[in-house]
Amino acid sequence: MEIVLASNFDDALVRETSDLPVSTFFGNFPIGLTGGGRPPRILPAVDPARFRAHVAQVHATGRRFYATVNSSDLGLHEYEPDFERRFLRSVDEWLDLGVDGFVIAVPLLIELVHRAHPEVPISVSTFARIRTVTQAEYFVRLGARTIVLEEANRDFALLRALRRRGAEVEILVNQTCLQGCPYRGHHLNTSSLASQPGESCPAIEYPILQCGWEMARDPRRIVSGIFVRPEDLAVYEEIGIDRFKVSGRNKSTAWLVRAARAYAGRSYAGNLADILSFVQLRAPGRFFEGAPELAADPETMALRRGFAPLGDLAIDNSKFPAGFFRRIAATDCEHTSCEECGYCLSVARKVLTVGGRPLEEYTPPVGPPNPAALLSRIASSPPAPSDRS
Ligand code: SF4
Repeated sequence: MEIVLASNFDDALVRETSDLPVSTFFGNFPIGLTGGGRPPRILPAVDPARFRAHVAQVHATGRRFYATVNSSDLGLHEYEPDFERRFLRSVDEWLDLGVDGFVIAVPLLIELVHRAHPEVPISVSTFARIRTVTQAEYFVRLGARTIVLEEANRDFALLRALRRRGAEVEILVNQTCLQGCPYRGHHLNTSSLASQPGESCPAIEYPILQCGWEMARDPRRIVSGIFVRPEDLAVYEEIGIDRFKVSGRNKSTAWLVRAARAYAGRSYAGNLADILSFVQLRAPGRFFEGAPELAADPETMALRRGFAPLGDLAIDNSKFPAGFFRRIAATDCEHTSCEECGYCLSVARKVLTVGGRPLEEYTPPVGPPNPAALLSRIASSPPAPSDRS
């Protein structure tokens, strides 16, 4: 097993995971020419000296460091006459800082890096949204080595086909996106654009509120989402996939060590929410904490009330039925309605509690509030504190 672990640029993270099969860390500066996969307000500030020292620490323990250059939208800057020169200069700067490889989503950037540095490994980011074998083949032909999947985690027909074609596949295990999320494209582009120089960064990405609201309306959707439990990694290993990515660049060292240790040990006893992202349920609460002036606003009050109970959501990992993930791996989830299938939704009733109470006692909110009114409030609100839980 190989773990590819998010870095928060704290050297203690490297030391405290030195006994784990972490092969690679990943991260980057919060703002850069192309942007990246996270809004800058949630990422740790890092200067070139800290970056260099951290990568040196990673190398000292025999691991690699990949820079995330995984924007899904370059803001049309790629059409500017000196874009290629400026981008390749950034690549040279990352390599000079000690970076061993890159995580990239936009094919143009993969092509540019591979032409300039054919020996440098490139992973195709989840932001490329690969869902078919043919798509993956295009990226490999451009020079990518590894295909990172997230949305397609439960598409075992695709995973098997990729392995048959000899692709190196990496599975992002601890994100909590909705199965077939309709808000994802907008969310990825929002983060990508917000992390480019001179762009504004909303206090919270609107698609996060939309996604979280879907979960508030029906928390059973959490279990039909894309996360993978530590206990279920063997289902991937049986088909030749043993590279697992643990995300959380905005998390504390203790949080990242806990998550990495759980996946390395293939087991987590307790509340799964401790090692999963749940940005769509955690970020709204932090947003409201950081914007007390919105307390009396009727639109945001409805939202705040709707999200409040899910701040105390728990997923009892001991209550999942035996064979949970094998059942999913045997289901064509890509072409099945979760409502019609009902499997994950029935498991949710066993494993989820809200405020310590069973799901049957949870009352979902009605709504959602008017987006037009909400968007202007998000843009003008102060940034939420970052998640260092
Ligand atoms: S289709 Fe069935 S098994 Fe697949 S995610 Fe939906 S509820 Fe779960």
